[in-house]
Amino acid sequence: MKLSKLASEIAESPTLALNEEARLLRERGEAVINLGIGEPKNKTPINAILSSAAKLTSGEVKYTPADGVPSLKKAIVRYTEENYDRLVAPENILVTNGAKQSLFNILFSVLNPQDEVIIIAPYWVSYPEIVKMCLARPVIVTPEDGTFAPRFEDIEKAVTAYTRVIIVNSPNNPSGIIYKPAFLEKLVDFCERKSILMVCDDIYHKLTFDKKEAIPALRYTRKDIENSNILIVNGVAKIYGMTGFRVGWVVAPRDLVRVMTNVTAQMTSGVSPISQAAAEGALNGLQSVVEAIRLHIQNNRDVLLQEMKSFNGARLIPPDGTFYALPDLRAFNNNSIELSKFLLKKALVVTVPGKDFGMEGHIRLSFSGSVKDVTEGIARIKWALDPTSPNEIYIGDKKMVRDWL
Ligand code: PMP
Repeated sequence: MKLSKLASEIAESPTLALNEEARLLRERGEAVINLGIGEPKNKTPINAILSSAAKLTSGEVKYTPADGVPSLKKAIVRYTEENYDRLVAPENILVTNGAKQSLFNILFSVLNPQDEVIIIAPYWVSYPEIVKMCLARPVIVTPEDGTFAPRFEDIEKAVTAYTRVIIVNSPNNPSGIIYKPAFLEKLVDFCERKSILMVCDDIYHKLTFDKKEAIPALRYTRKDIENSNILIVNGVAKIYGMTGFRVGWVVAPRDLVRVMTNVTAQMTSGVSPISQAAAEGALNGLQSVVEAIRLHIQNNRDVLLQEMKSFNGARLIPPDGTFYALPDLRAFNNNSIELSKFLLKKALVVTVPGKDFGMEGHIRLSFSGSVKDVTEGIARIKWALDPTSPNEIYIGDKKMVRDWL
């Protein structure tokens, strides 16, 4: 079939593709460990279950307003006030099918063909593809080798007359780092002076470790949401572990929300009321569930750091948040796709190649699963790559001997 040039140039989602490969291997009875997937393992919070179940049993499952049901918007208004210290109106909020659609909707609504969007490497895989789907151009800014933190000067240099948006994702997928407050402060000021929109993807904002805080960029402007260049993207996927419900949102000036609502109305219509009720339940319910997820993940991060200490050749900048780590494995292979394939074949561990995040020679490890997955997964990776690690290992109930190093 003849396909459009635009669609055929859009990359496959590497994480979804790897998850599928892992599922197929597992179906064949292989002892696969998935360090590729990015979702907490918790059950849906009880308040979300009760609220969505009540909606379902009411039998009133109909179209919803394209911008979101009023009661969920009210909960998001409160969430924004509590977490961003900003009073916003329901007209400042658009509810979408996950944060992914929030990002798409913003970019589709503000970009003209050939406009440029600055994306900081390492970046979430979907950013460049979404920009391309909007016929605009991703401009990647890569930090100095050995760091994941961009320098303000490098961003300044990448800005042209076509720059319309900078995407900021802190805590960052895939590196787990939190951008420094001084960097954000400078960037906010710069974006205001240059009239560049700063899209803050805050989807991991509460999943931070060691009492570190991901300070929202909004704190560095005196402007209210109506007049600010800062747009917030958030959602229930990560902090409540509700990835399957597909609820995200944008906080933005009313004019933009109006346009984005039209885009949503013509594309997907409003999010399912069952999902919106679930999100409302989560936002209005017991917040200790978020802390429970955070603690579990922090513990996994500690275990990961401990295990990585004896991984000779790997270099790791410890994550400050999210549930990802991005070790530098260039000592073993510069080609991260080859590395990930090798690890899946030899060690039955799913990882995501750093190349997909704009960081070749690295691989992304997700520690959102069980402690056992983290310990065993890293032991297997060490066994496959590090000649100083023991050369025998059990994978499932099979004893494996390393014969390639
Ligand atoms: N932004 C980032 C940085 C992410 O990692 C993800 C999910 N992997 C999303 C957005 C999308 O979230 P959602 O599932 O709500 O679409």
